[in-house]
Amino acid sequence: MRICPKCGLNNPPGTVACNCGYDFKRSVSLVAAGYVCAVLALGFFPPGFGLAAVVIGIVNVTKSKEGHGIAQIVLGVTCGFVGWNIGANIAATGHPW
Ligand SMILES: [Zn+2]
Repeated sequence: MRICPKCGLNNPPGTVACNCGYDFKRSVSLVAAGYVCAVLALGFFPPGFGLAAVVIGIVNVTKSKEGHGIAQIVLGVTCGFVGWNIGANIAATGHPW
């Protein structure tokens, strides 16, 4: 059973999209992508990946994934900020502190 988080309908196993239009596969990969971008923001190009995590978080909030979405917005901002500081410190001093 795959219970649709949007409408609550019980879909058969392996269902890709619910009758209401909710896309199980895309929403799962978007949730994963948001966390991946937030983590990547710590080490690589914080403005890009941090912003991407925030944008994906907003998309997840609009797709009835409020918990993940809000977590990703917070993580995206935090990791982007921390990653930015680490990058600035490496550029200024040659080491990340
Ligand atoms: Zn549904």
